[in-house]
Amino acid sequence: MTREAITDRLANGDVLLLDGATGSELHRRGVNVSKGAEPGKLGPWSATANIDAPEVVRAVHEDYLRIGVDVLTSNNFWTSAARLNMVGLGSEWERYTRAAAEIALAARDAVNPHAYVAGGIAPPVHGDLRSEFLDQTRVLTDAGVDLMLAEYVGYLHDFAVAVEAAGSTGLPVFLGVRHVTLDGTLQYGDSFEDLARELRSLPVAAILLMCSSPPEISACLPRLRDAWDGPIGAYANIGYTINPNFGQPGEQWHLIDQETYGPERYAGYVREWLAMGVSIVGGCCATGPEHIAELRKLIPMRAG
Ligand SMILES: [Zn+2]
Repeated sequence: MTREAITDRLANGDVLLLDGATGSELHRRGVNVSKGAEPGKLGPWSATANIDAPEVVRAVHEDYLRIGVDVLTSNNFWTSAARLNMVGLGSEWERYTRAAAEIALAARDAVNPHAYVAGGIAPPVHGDLRSEFLDQTRVLTDAGVDLMLAEYVGYLHDFAVAVEAAGSTGLPVFLGVRHVTLDGTLQYGDSFEDLARELRSLPVAAILLMCSSPPEISACLPRLRDAWDGPIGAYANIGYTINPNFGQPGEQWHLIDQETYGPERYAGYVREWLAMGVSIVGGCCATGPEHIAELRKLIPMRAG
């Protein structure tokens, strides 16, 4: 089927609902997303689930699709060779990358063919961002994703590199900016004007603040709105934090708190963000289907 270009949807003023977390939701459903992790150092996180537990990845995707999300994010956060190498699977990165895309696309085709699948990739932290993003983007585009979500980017010098590499095959690129602060700055103290300057003349379809607490996003969205004319969005980390006791057998590297920001409280923040002019909302770490279902009520569904 033909889907209207997502950039046209945004240009028409539509508000789009993203899914919620995948990695922490897999963790919540009992999947080991801490393979290769050590105290202070996370491995490839949810990437291994694409081969270890594909049916659970698919179930998470399908739950979000049934709620009515417009955009599903594939489980490609750390399917890069550099991250999979931490568990000796670096040479199999393409298999893990493609599997994640295929699971997301199959879920979409089965539940809601109108939804878009975003290939969601993150900087490998250790490794070359440009070459890893070029590799991931090539495989994800070939698999058939509709857009790229270059997320969890934080260093000022990484923004343009990430957008260019994720856009190298011609798909629209959403940029996800991590860990913004209550002071209204980017993670390392840069301003939103700095960010906009880095991205000047690059084809970025939307900028989203992500993996930050709801109050941090509320503090920064007005700054982003002032600095950047294009579509903006937000999806918060509501409570996925490092487990201080990590290291015992069977434990996961993170702890999940879904109580501090329950679905209704989180939806209250999102309502505020919609009033600030965002047109893309969803959830990052620790959000689950219950949170996204609450957000669905805030956004009018498009007829047809
Ligand atoms: Zn997150």
